[in-house]
Amino acid sequence: MTQAHNTLARRRWLMLAGASAITALVPTLGWSDGDEDEGDSGSSSTTAISPAATGLTGRMVVVGGGMAGVTAAKYLRLWGGSGLTITLVEPATTYVSNIMSNLVLNGSRTVTSLGYTHGNLTSKYGVNVVRASLTAIDTANKSLTLSDGASLPYDRLVLAPGVEFEDAYGLTQTDYETRTPHAWRAGPQTQLLRDQLAAMPSNGTFVMTIPKAPYRCPPGPYERACLVADFLKTHKGAGSKVIVLDENFPTDAANPYTAIQAEAHSFTQAYTVTHAGVVDYQPGVTDIAIDPVTKAVSYTDRMGVPHTVTPQVVNPIPPHRATGSSATGWLTQAGLANGASGKWALVNVLSFESTAAGATGVHVIGDASQCGLPKAGHVANQEAKICVDAIVRALSGQQPDPAPVANSACYSPITASTASWLTAVYQYDSVNKKFVVANNGGVTAGAKPVEAASASSQNFQQMNTWFNTLMGDAFA
Ligand SMILES: Cc1cc2nc3c(=O)[nH]c(=O)nc-3n(C[C@H](O)[C@H](O)[C@H](O)COP(=O)(O)OP(=O)(O)OC[C@H]3O[C@@H](n4cnc5c(N)ncnc54)[C@H](O)[C@@H]3O)c2cc1C
Repeated sequence: MTQAHNTLARRRWLMLAGASAITALVPTLGWSDGDEDEGDSGSSSTTAISPAATGLTGRMVVVGGGMAGVTAAKYLRLWGGSGLTITLVEPATTYVSNIMSNLVLNGSRTVTSLGYTHGNLTSKYGVNVVRASLTAIDTANKSLTLSDGASLPYDRLVLAPGVEFEDAYGLTQTDYETRTPHAWRAGPQTQLLRDQLAAMPSNGTFVMTIPKAPYRCPPGPYERACLVADFLKTHKGAGSKVIVLDENFPTDAANPYTAIQAEAHSFTQAYTVTHAGVVDYQPGVTDIAIDPVTKAVSYTDRMGVPHTVTPQVVNPIPPHRATGSSATGWLTQAGLANGASGKWALVNVLSFESTAAGATGVHVIGDASQCGLPKAGHVANQEAKICVDAIVRALSGQQPDPAPVANSACYSPITASTASWLTAVYQYDSVNKKFVVANNGGVTAGAKPVEAASASSQNFQQMNTWFNTLMGDAFA
């Protein structure tokens, strides 16, 4: 999973700390590779690591304790050594994993089981965790303002605040929280959507929407449609319907399934064979409007024909953007929301340092950045490592790695017991200064991620191992 950067890590330790430091570190890096589906216990029973005295110093502040931020904080200690002061700013005491959260909807997992705490960051890696939100950044004076009024100075700042959701289709944030949940940030909305599904009548109708790309987790909405279809036809009758309103358009007008944003082969198979007659996939829809009280959904199909349907449950996944990138948001106010439509933070992908004027020493990783990589948890973990590697090199007076490599692996449940997968390796294209999908170790135009030939129970088991390993790499 993290081969490229684990290799980098080994090189880094050899370079900065000597081989003995690696030996000292390795026994503390145990993490689960079993198939249990539990989050962490919230306890931090493991002992502190003994990081090397690298001679590097400085105030490192990481904002956001999710997939990207936690990985960055941990690896700053592992690769940067004992002299760094590392602070994580995160308001929530428990992070609920989005990954696997679609399995809450069919009752396979619980929201509680997907909870991870930041205890190990403090006890094992000596990271100061501050329970507050970032509210303003002063890039000129390298200082943050937090929600409790405190100021926090930094020498290097790593922003990993994830995404926020737009009021869309006539809905408000209150609607999302109370009656038409998007559940695209795992937590109470996931439970609300699960409860609504469990209460559906026999042979009822579920409608979900998919926003135009880019959005968080390209295969995630299509996976959700599969799991809901599987749950409804198993528990609520074969006459149940899952209507998928996708705002993305087919790339081939003759094949509607070419609108699918990831794992097109797997989801085409799922919609036309495995869940045929239940999933009604409608790409290229426009003008979606949702009444939060009656749940009536109106839209125009790609042939220009208007429709209205009134399902029992509606699940809008609204367009989203980097957290803090609204007109008055802190990312915008600091001039860092300089990506497409002012919704994302543009970065130099060699270091994930912001390209905004005056933002020296400010890095943006995870879903909030615009870097050419998919918005995914596995990728966020990779971005964090590329970023930390670049920071440690910079503190050592070196340039970033000129040829970073990242990979993405993703498993998608198709039913309650089978899954497909998708994987890709990304290499730096120095001409276009972006990541491109690599093919056979070389950059090949048109190379694509590889996906499973078919869904299987073996893939489902491997998915659990992949998930536990990824979460362990971040939180353990
Ligand atoms: C249903 C679903 C399924 C998914 N499945 C997969 C999958 O199978 N594989 C995969 O790789 N990815 C998957 N993803 C995508 C993955 O969850 C995200 O890409 C990943 O979480 C992004 O990491 P992040 O650190 O950028 O954001 P997050 O993980 O969302 O973390 C952001 C953190 O920042 C904090 N924060 C926000 N604002 C502030 C502030 N002002 N101050 C301080 N802290 C702040 C938040 O509280 C949060 O803890 C899925 C997503 C969904 C919704």
